[in-house]
Amino acid sequence: MAFESLSDKLQNIFKNLRSKGRLTEADVKASLKEVKMALLEADVSFKVVKQFMKAVQERAVGQDVLNGLNPGQMVIKIVNEEMVNLMGAETTEIALQPASEITVLMMMGLQGAGKTTTTAKIAGKLKSKGRKPLLVACDIYRPAAIQQLQINGDKQGVEVFSMGDKNKPVNIAKAAIEHASKNGHNVVILDTAGRLHVDEDMMNELIEIKENVTVNQSLLVVDAMTGQDAVNVATMFDEKIGIDGVILTKLDGDTRGGAALSIRAVTGKPILYIGMGEKLSDLEQFYPDRMASRILGMGDVLTLIEKVQNDIDEDKAREMERKLRKAEFGFDDYLEQMQQIKKMGGLSDLLGMIPGMGAQMKNIDEVVDDKAMSRVEAMILSMTPQERTNPSVLNPSRKKRIADGAGVNISEVNRLVKQFEQGKKMMKQLPGMMGGKMGGKRGK
Ligand code: GDP
Repeated sequence: MAFESLSDKLQNIFKNLRSKGRLTEADVKASLKEVKMALLEADVSFKVVKQFMKAVQERAVGQDVLNGLNPGQMVIKIVNEEMVNLMGAETTEIALQPASEITVLMMMGLQGAGKTTTTAKIAGKLKSKGRKPLLVACDIYRPAAIQQLQINGDKQGVEVFSMGDKNKPVNIAKAAIEHASKNGHNVVILDTAGRLHVDEDMMNELIEIKENVTVNQSLLVVDAMTGQDAVNVATMFDEKIGIDGVILTKLDGDTRGGAALSIRAVTGKPILYIGMGEKLSDLEQFYPDRMASRILGMGDVLTLIEKVQNDIDEDKAREMERKLRKAEFGFDDYLEQMQQIKKMGGLSDLLGMIPGMGAQMKNIDEVVDDKAMSRVEAMILSMTPQERTNPSVLNPSRKKRIADGAGVNISEVNRLVKQFEQGKKMMKQLPGMMGGKMGGKRGK
């Protein structure tokens, strides 16, 4: 699985952080050191790791705890955000000319990187976007390269242009573009020859093509499993030929993730697509934010953290914490908490964002029925201020009045009062266990 080992390591580090609740600066520093080790072991470029750790450290150490987040969560959030930045922050598309013109894409890469396969995968993607691609067999050296392109082109329903192996690639490219313009193709994808290593002949051949035909995008295909080698190859191609974007193949088998995390930072060139398998449909657009979530194994927890940050009012949270500690919690507070949850999209939505939670709580909708929440709200709103702050005055006749007011059965009012008392008892024990999850500034 992609990034398994890096992901496992980071998740363990974060699990330790989270379980602590209250963190000292030394805790944070120790965890970040572990993050650094994990990245180096994942074969992330040393220079990139250094820059990354500097950025994270500056933000994480001495940072105030934000609304509703404990320091552990804060560190995770910072690591995530810096990881997204490292990979380019934004999704980049292949830059295509308008459909009325021909866009020429030159695919480059070492032998075995997955160039021919990726070329056909991209043709399929562009076809589904309404383009009419032409695949061009410019790899005249590797035995069976032409045939492989032909087979893949057929599978994708995309025409393949070939002149056998006796013509120079630059001449094949020229002829292909002419063929494309006569036959209404608006994307020409040149499958150039790779070598086992970067060598001068290969580079010269690519330069010759670039000098003689208008190449709109030079795209480099690299094998993610080769880690830092992939990054070095990208650097060399960029210096000699100039690349517009990278396609990272075999990410499905890359447990470390070093190439994915380094390429953008080292070359400044975006990753456009990632290869996730041998099938022609196994090509995905590259989203830095989703990739970071994948690496951190966090699912939508990050969205959840974001929500908590946006939606919880710090002063209110602190006041609530004070009330909880003193067990002064009344029905008004209960109501306010419920409204907070509603504002954040309801309990079932929130719980669903926690990885594994959805599966664990199959009957989640029954357990946290948002409609039931509205009935509870109606009951509380039917109470007098005195009843809300001091529920012990709730005798049967008051309960009957509340039930009538809220349009529910009296047994529901009884259940609510009972649940509330139980909850209050639990909350009295809770502040000690919470370790400062709500509000207050800590960790210093
Ligand atoms: P080329 O020499 O660069 O043209 O490489 P090929 O396109 O012939 O691919 C080399 C091998 O890698 C083939 O067996 C492909 O099926 C395989 N391959 C290509 N892309 C991927 C990918 O994203 N994931 C996996 N698992 N295999 C891939």
